[in-house]
Amino acid sequence: MAPHLIDNHGRVVNYLRLAVTDRCNLRCFYCMPEEGITYLPKAELMTYEEMVRIVRIMAGLGVDKVRITGGEPFVRTDIVAFMYHLRDIPGIKQLNLTTNGTLTYRYIDDLVKLGVKTVNLSLDTLDKDRFFQVTRRDEYGKVMQTFHALLERGIQVKINMVVMQGINTEDIIPMAQLAAQYPVDVRFIEEMPFNGAGDHHQQWEWNFMKIIDTLRSAYPALEKLPDPPHSTSMNYSAPGLQGRLGIIAAYTRSFCGTCNRLRLTPQGQLKTCLYDNGVFNIKDLLRNGATDEQVRDAIVNAVSHRSRDGHEAEQNRLGLPVNESMSTIGG
Ligand code: SAM
Ligand code: SF4
Repeated sequence: MAPHLIDNHGRVVNYLRLAVTDRCNLRCFYCMPEEGITYLPKAELMTYEEMVRIVRIMAGLGVDKVRITGGEPFVRTDIVAFMYHLRDIPGIKQLNLTTNGTLTYRYIDDLVKLGVKTVNLSLDTLDKDRFFQVTRRDEYGKVMQTFHALLERGIQVKINMVVMQGINTEDIIPMAQLAAQYPVDVRFIEEMPFNGAGDHHQQWEWNFMKIIDTLRSAYPALEKLPDPPHSTSMNYSAPGLQGRLGIIAAYTRSFCGTCNRLRLTPQGQLKTCLYDNGVFNIKDLLRNGATDEQVRDAIVNAVSHRSRDGHEAEQNRLGLPVNESMSTIGG
């Protein structure tokens, strides 16, 4: 059995979020500016071979769950072939995906073959015009086509909705209703300042408490469910709902105590917290000729110096603002 990777706060780390690209075909305003984005030069992106090697080393340390994210994973050429390689790495038990759903439809057969059980689908509104307002692209129909096809093929869907004050708060209840109509979980995410521009769009008034109050106004019998281990969402059920409602307090950071995740950015920066600035660059280590053992030691060392929570990680950025685009982190 693979050893456990345990951090300096006693937390087991077994989950990697792998951002395979910083590119995206949408321009969600909470994630990227509309124009003026400078994408990473191709040479700075990790190659598929490098990513497979890193995941193999991490799997040897006990990482058994990988989520592919980005940017939009499906804008990267040959992503599906890469996913087959990942699936075949000994020790990797779960391969999941976060996608905006616009390019996903044609790959659903592959997702089934790959054994992907759950897809996190980002959708912030059921209103076509508002979808355009948020994403700056007219792709609502494709996302819904993906949504229905995933359900038909038996893949569990978790909808991620970022709650944005002044933009889509009136969509909270209609989105929650999706969990009545379909067996899907709908998760409401506090907006974070990772928008590539450093703008705080608002006072972040829509925190998890306000979201819960809003849900309770429509579902007075909302009942808190026990938190699964390492869950970032607080989950609720209500009579009449097939799926669960979840709230992800990503800005308030209430879930750090059980955090089991590492993040790898498209250029190879290892993050031991969403809010840190990257602790070291694994790709550079590989390109400088490090052996697997040296890479393993560097990962173990980083994990043994993890921030206790997102607030500490933010402080350790020493004034560097939290304003990089989420497309360079992967959520
Ligand atoms: N492109 C894919 C997608 O949108 O699902 C994967 C990458 S995206 C960066 C991953 C997740 O981060 C999405 O669910 C998105 O809604 C969320 N996200 C992006 N920017 C955010 C922000 N500023 N605050 C909160 N969540 C954000
Ligand atoms: Fe693209 Fe996802 Fe960011 Fe939207 S949230 S711009 S879909 S990476």
